[in-house]
Amino acid sequence: METKAFQAESKKLLDMMIHSIYTHKEIFLRELISNASDAIDKLYFRSLTDDTVGMNKDDFEIRIDADKEARTITVTDNGIGMTGEELERNLGTIATSGSLQFKNDNTLGDDQQIIGQFGVGFYSAFMVAKRVTVFSRAFGSDKAYKWQSEGVEGYTIEETEMDTHGTKIVLELMEDSDEEGYSEFLESYRIQGLVRKYSDYIRFPIRMEVSHRKLKEGTEDEYEDEITLDTLNSMVPLWRKNRSELTEDDYNNFYQEKFVDYMPPMSYKHVHNEGTVSYDALLYIPSKAPFDYYTREYEKGLQLYANGVLIMDKCADLLPDYYSFVRGLVDSEDLSLNISREMLQHDRQLKMIAKSIEKTIRSELVHMIKSDRDKYEKFFEAFGTQLKYGVYSDYGMHKEDLQDLLLFQSSRGDKPVTLAEYVESMPEEQKEIYYASGVTAEAIAALPQTEMVRSKGYEILYFTAPVDEFAAKQMMNYKGKEFKSVTANDLDLNTEEERKELNEKQEENKPLLEEMKSALEGKVERVALSNRLKSHAVCLTSEGDLTLEMEKVLNSMPTDKKVQAKLVLEINPSHPVFARLKALHGNDADKVKKYAKLLYDQALLMEGMPIENPAEFSELICELM
Ligand code: ADP
Ligand code: MG
Repeated sequence: METKAFQAESKKLLDMMIHSIYTHKEIFLRELISNASDAIDKLYFRSLTDDTVGMNKDDFEIRIDADKEARTITVTDNGIGMTGEELERNLGTIATSGSLQFKNDNTLGDDQQIIGQFGVGFYSAFMVAKRVTVFSRAFGSDKAYKWQSEGVEGYTIEETEMDTHGTKIVLELMEDSDEEGYSEFLESYRIQGLVRKYSDYIRFPIRMEVSHRKLKEGTEDEYEDEITLDTLNSMVPLWRKNRSELTEDDYNNFYQEKFVDYMPPMSYKHVHNEGTVSYDALLYIPSKAPFDYYTREYEKGLQLYANGVLIMDKCADLLPDYYSFVRGLVDSEDLSLNISREMLQHDRQLKMIAKSIEKTIRSELVHMIKSDRDKYEKFFEAFGTQLKYGVYSDYGMHKEDLQDLLLFQSSRGDKPVTLAEYVESMPEEQKEIYYASGVTAEAIAALPQTEMVRSKGYEILYFTAPVDEFAAKQMMNYKGKEFKSVTANDLDLNTEEERKELNEKQEENKPLLEEMKSALEGKVERVALSNRLKSHAVCLTSEGDLTLEMEKVLNSMPTDKKVQAKLVLEINPSHPVFARLKALHGNDADKVKKYAKLLYDQALLMEGMPIENPAEFSELICELM
């Protein structure tokens, strides 16, 4: 018996496994079980056409044995088995499986991720075992072989005896150290948990001897341990079942258990997709945003199964960011368990599935808006901000898909409206979609700039989330109607005549307005007369793209570059304050200056913006009093 060397790439992969700092060592069991299941599948399919196999579906099984004393875990199957040659070829090399694409030698960082996300097969056994022994006898052969390896140094193969075809893999666990524990894998509850977590839906029974504590017959408080051969997996995944067989409770219980939520989901969707890519999916919208939803810690993604075997817990690629709140899983026969097999094709399949899932989510939401508005409003309260970010992100690429899913509070009442509803109820002469930004709907309703718009009978959308205005800017328009801030300087609701009259007044008072502007020392672009105000004396409006609200949001971000909106201080010419200013003009330049400052600060306060010099403001007020 000689020690044989691993093929170069296998050696590298093996080395990676042994030194893996990957925290999910537990996947080794999933990998071995899935190999066992593959091997049984092969023989099972053969049995369908070949009578000499002499086995029924019920005869197949995967066995797990844990021996605490010997510190071994053994996984046995009665599948197709391997010849000596196959043992060598399949376990001595990974070249056949297309390789993990070791493009360069120092990609360990990324590889760690590959291990975590996708199965890397048999070698994962070396994450937990110091020695791995494989006994195998191929179906139809009477010779059995024993393959053994302690890691990168190589492996040995020799003949052995086996009663029946199949494969038995014995892992001798590594010793526990301060940093790493392995003994836990010998505990039956741990093994049961792993099977349920990763391999519940393997089509063949996974059995293990489990000891149960039970009341001794004829006694009332004496217990004894009874050992039974338990099947650890349920074998039929919920998502493979027919929708008609399942109740809402089935779906909800599954969700709460699987995704650990104390509340049932707000909504679920069970998809059986056939076509260019076939998959089954269960998609859930939680009732509440998880506590970390709007933080960096939150990880989006759906569980990904390949043919019933979990290969990834949170596959982020299956969900766009704006639907990151969706929980659930996808199971596809078109995916193979091992990413190393044709990684590229994988990606393409995955993309197609992701596209299809995105469409499904969207149509679910569209349906919910129409059929259950109250529910949708609750949904939007929890996750709407994310949709708005979606409109804004990627240069507005997704706005077409998302804009009809948005809701906004408005001047019309308590119920939020969709953009479609807003546009439908616009009076004929109204050209634009009006909005106003502020901290709360109440604060916005009190803004002086909204007076004029409301007096015309036009509805105003209330933008209370920081992202709102940015999303509107990204959309630019909805069904051809442009978004317009009521604080925009060029908001023109005047008739021809009113405009003319205003211009004349403006000319007349030019020196006064200039004087006020210079008193404000560059804080505003202009001071102008306006008839958008009814009861208020002044307000601030902005010229150009940047509004005061956006300035606030942008400047609150941690960058050095500060932005400044181009502001116009608008004065109501029919307000007594203006008459007072006119009277002072030419007589008391100092007072005009002070009043200009006061009015500017008042306008800021009404916008909910901080004033630059509160002490000066307070002094001026006292002086006035
Ligand atoms: P993959 O399963 O993706 O092919 P693995 O590294 O898990 O990659 O396994 C390598 C190969 O070893 C398998 O393709 C299979 O041919 C063989 N093999 C592994 N385990 C078994 C088993 N229990 N029975 C038969 N063949 C097996
Ligand atoms: Mg495998």
